[in-house]
Amino acid sequence: MRYLSTRGQAPILDFRAATLAGLASDGGLYVPESWPRFSDAEIAAMAGLSYVEVAVRVCRPFTAGALDDDALRAIFTAAYGRFAHDAVAPLKQLDHRHWLMELFHGPTLAFKDVALQALGLVFERFLAESGQHITVIGATSGDTGSAAIDALAGRAGVEVYMLHPDGRVSEVQRRQMTTVLDANIHNIAIAGNFDDAQALVKAMFNDAAFAARFPLAAVNSINWARLLFQVVYYFTSALSLGAPHRAVSYAVPTGNFGDVFAGYVAAQMGLPIERLVVATNRNDILHRALTSGDYSAGTVAPTDAPSMDIQVSSNFERLLFDLSGRDAAALAAAMAEFETTKKLHLPAAWRARAGLFTSARVDADEMVDTMRWALAHTGELLDPHTAIGLAAARRDTGSAPMVTLATAHPAKFPAAVEAATGVSPQLPARLADLMRRPERYDGAPAQLQAIEAYIAERARAK
Ligand SMILES: *Cc1c(COP(=O)(O)O)cnc(C)c1O
Repeated sequence: MRYLSTRGQAPILDFRAATLAGLASDGGLYVPESWPRFSDAEIAAMAGLSYVEVAVRVCRPFTAGALDDDALRAIFTAAYGRFAHDAVAPLKQLDHRHWLMELFHGPTLAFKDVALQALGLVFERFLAESGQHITVIGATSGDTGSAAIDALAGRAGVEVYMLHPDGRVSEVQRRQMTTVLDANIHNIAIAGNFDDAQALVKAMFNDAAFAARFPLAAVNSINWARLLFQVVYYFTSALSLGAPHRAVSYAVPTGNFGDVFAGYVAAQMGLPIERLVVATNRNDILHRALTSGDYSAGTVAPTDAPSMDIQVSSNFERLLFDLSGRDAAALAAAMAEFETTKKLHLPAAWRARAGLFTSARVDADEMVDTMRWALAHTGELLDPHTAIGLAAARRDTGSAPMVTLATAHPAKFPAAVEAATGVSPQLPARLADLMRRPERYDGAPAQLQAIEAYIAERARAK
């Protein structure tokens, strides 16, 4: 499979190079040249297979030439062997129509472990083959950072610089990053919000002189391999609920549009998906874009679901590329306009191709009500992100079974969960001493020069 940039001006890469590149050199994102498609018979043949075996089948068309079946199997077996649940992404029934897919059984209790545990092993393998080393830079609203750090700590050839917005991640999230003391892990608390941190990372990738000195790689969901590994659990869950003979819908708590884009990819590959419900909190740029075409960034309002406190969703560009009819020139022009004016009106023709998606904006009261409803009616304690997803799911009027992606364990957000339900969620035993472990991190202003200088002092140049 070959990978091209959504903006059409960057070199075409194979899977290996696209995985190590992160952002394309023209500012775009790498996407596969075409969507491989399974027949119904091929999908039916996956029913009853283990998570690892479904993952091999779903990923192999995308990794051909770089990772064969045995390599994929070894990577997934090691990555998901670290999960606390053998099903990896188990489904839990809530009522006759609604299901939760629990994606938080990995080492850092959020769905990002599913992709990043595998990506860490892929990086290590590619780097060992070539003798290269890479500098991973990332911005996190909390969960990406901890999942990436856990996946990359101590790995040969990888140096990690993780930017988080100072004071805007929960204490559990911060500690999951800053208590990892391996020498290749560097945490930086930025004086700013998540969008500032993400803009700094993008600016480093776009700084040709800096990128020429340090071989930069991304672990944010701009990394294609990360999205690919998330496609797998759409397949396992739909198979459990009757695919390919019956369609399934999904409600996805959304921030950077990575997780729900993986659902879109699954649909392009032939999985029968009736609807993808994009759930946002009051930071609702995606809801406005999908309902009225108004893709304009406001200012970020901090909420109890910080991983969704985003105004600019990087991966939305990957969807826009398809909605434009894969017209890279038109998309590059649209994104250039968005980058200068922070506004874009989606043309009617583009929106007409987005029929798989609906959206919902869920504010704090409805989130709290949903947490209370779930506890009273099903006994489930939900984290704030999952509650927003379930609230959006419960508004949907379709007929297919509806799966809400449970993206984090409630104990990652104990204050919000306790305030809503009166119940204090307990950290699983493997993390019980987190609040007592020593921390290490540095603060920095949200200025490109300061961050680049910090990295240059510590990183190995090319
Ligand atoms: C990252 C995250 C999200 C948002 O996922 P995207 O792929 O960025 O849309 C939602 N919930 C939780 C708990 C997360 O960590």
